[in-house]
Amino acid sequence: QEDVFKKIVSHCKEYGFVFPSSEIYDGLAAVYDYGQNGVELKNNIKQYWWQSMVLLHENIVGLDAAIFMHPTVWKASGHVDAFNDPLIDNRDSKKRYRADVLIEDHMAKYEEKIAKEIAKAKKRFGDSFDEAQFRATNPRVLENQKKFDDLHARYTEAMQGPNLEMLKQIIEDEGIVCPISGTKNWTDVRQFNLMFSTQMGAASDATSKVYLRPETAQGIFVDYLSVQKTGRMKLPFGICQIGKAFRNEVVARQFVFRMREFEQMEMQFFCQPGTEMKWFEYWKKVRLAWHEALGMGNENYRYHDHEKLAHYANAATDIEFKMPFGFKEVEGIHSRTNFDLSQHEKYSGRSIKYFDPEKNESYVPYDVETSIGVDRMFLSVMCHSYCEEKLENGETRVVLRLPEALAPVKCAVFPLDKKYGLPELAHEIVDELKFHFNTHYGDPKDSIGKRYRRQDAIGTPFCITVDHETPNDHKVTLRYRDTMEQERVAISDLRSIIEERVSI
Ligand code: ATP
Repeated sequence: QEDVFKKIVSHCKEYGFVFPSSEIYDGLAAVYDYGQNGVELKNNIKQYWWQSMVLLHENIVGLDAAIFMHPTVWKASGHVDAFNDPLIDNRDSKKRYRADVLIEDHMAKYEEKIAKEIAKAKKRFGDSFDEAQFRATNPRVLENQKKFDDLHARYTEAMQGPNLEMLKQIIEDEGIVCPISGTKNWTDVRQFNLMFSTQMGAASDATSKVYLRPETAQGIFVDYLSVQKTGRMKLPFGICQIGKAFRNEVVARQFVFRMREFEQMEMQFFCQPGTEMKWFEYWKKVRLAWHEALGMGNENYRYHDHEKLAHYANAATDIEFKMPFGFKEVEGIHSRTNFDLSQHEKYSGRSIKYFDPEKNESYVPYDVETSIGVDRMFLSVMCHSYCEEKLENGETRVVLRLPEALAPVKCAVFPLDKKYGLPELAHEIVDELKFHFNTHYGDPKDSIGKRYRRQDAIGTPFCITVDHETPNDHKVTLRYRDTMEQERVAISDLRSIIEERVSI
C-alpha cells in the first residue's frame, strides 16, 4: 500500500497534476502547486460541489469573503486561545512531533497485533472460525485489547484540556520511542498555535498583527446577517464558500492530505434553535450521498462519529475515505450550535440576531457546518482512480479511472496521419467540441498507441481518431478509456454521446 501511494505521488508529478511548491529551490514543506491537469481536476471538484450545494438549493447561496479578517474575529472564535497542537521534541534527533499523533500511532499497534492474531486463526480454522468467541477467549487478544482500552481511556482523558503532563506521562509509561533516533529522550509537551500571522500596513506594532484564516467558516459568520438581509433569506438557509485556509501543521505528511496552505469548501446552514439535530442528520446523509454519487465504491466511505466534541459543537461526525494509508477524514459535519454567532455578537457589540416573522421574535440561529477539503477530495479521487493493468499482450497500462465528470481533459482528438488533410479535420472537431467540454488535439508525431497511453495516464475518458476514411464517411473511431473498446461513430453524434456522460 505504501508503494502504491509513492507511485501515485510520482504519477501526479510526472503528469502535471501536483508539483512540490518552489521545486527549483528544493521545495517548501507541505506546500504544493497544482499543474495543468491538477488545476482542471480541482476546478471540476469545486464545480461539482458548488453546483450541488448552491445552484440546486433555492435556500443556499454563495459567498467569497477575504482571507484577511479583523484580528478580533479570531479572539471571538476561540482560535487565538485554543487552536493548538500539543508538541514534544526528541532531544537526540532534534525532531518535533505531535504528542497526540505519537500516542495514536502507538495505540494502533495494539490493534494491529489483535488483527494479526485474528487473521492467523482465521487461516487455521477456516469456515468454522468464530471471531467473537476468539476475541473473548484468546489470551493474547485479551491482553492487547486490555492494553488498548486502558490507553484509550487515559488518552481521551489527557486530551481534555488538554492535560500536557498527562500526555507526557503516557509517552513515558508506554516507552514510545522517536521514529528517527529510536530513543526515549523527550522534552515536556507544550502547546503550539497553528495560525500563521503577518503584519498589515507600515506599522509593525501589536495592533497591526493579522492572521491568515485557518478556516473559511468565520468569513461566513461575520457576513451572515448582510447576506440574510440583502438576500431576504428565511431560516433555514445556507451560505457556501470555497477558499484557501492556512494552518502551520507540525506533522506535515501524506502529500496533499495535510498541507500548510489548502482549500476548503464549507457550508454553514442556519436553522431555528432546537432543529439543529434534525439538520445535522439530514446533512450527514446528503453529504455521504454526494460522495457516493461519484461512483468510487460505497464501501470506501464510512462515518466516524466524534465522542470528544470541540467546545462549540453538540454533535460531530467525519466522512472518511479509504486512502492507501487507511480510512481518513475527508469531510467534517459539525453541529456548531449558536456558539460562533453569539461570540461575534459579544465581541463586536452589534446585534446579529435573526428576526423570525413567523414567531415574531429575534434570536441567534443555530448552525450546522459541512466542511470538506478540496485537496483531500482530490487525493481520494486520485488514489481511487490510479490503476496498473496487465494487458493481454503482456504490457502494463497505467490508467486513471477518474469519474468522467471530473476528468481534466474529457476528449482527445488524433489525426492518424500528418497528411491528407487529417490534422485539419481533427482541428475542426476540436474547435467544435471545445466549447462544450475540455477537448485536446493530439499531434501525429507519436504513434496512436502512445497517444492513447498518455491520455489513459491523465484519465481522459474519450479518444477520437480521424483516419483515412473520415473525409469520405464523416465518421471517426471513438475509444473508451476504461474498456479500450472502439466504435465508429458519426462526427455529428460526438457531442451528444460525450456530453451525456461528462456533464456534472
Ligand atoms: P485533521 O483532524 O485531519 O487535522 P480537522 O478535523 O482539523 O482535520 P477541520 O478543521 O474539520 O479538520 O477542517 C475541515 C476539512 O478541511 C477537513 O475535513 C479536511 O478535509 C480539510 N483540512 C483540514 N486541515 C487540512 C490540511 N492541513 N490540509 C488539507 N486539508 C485539510
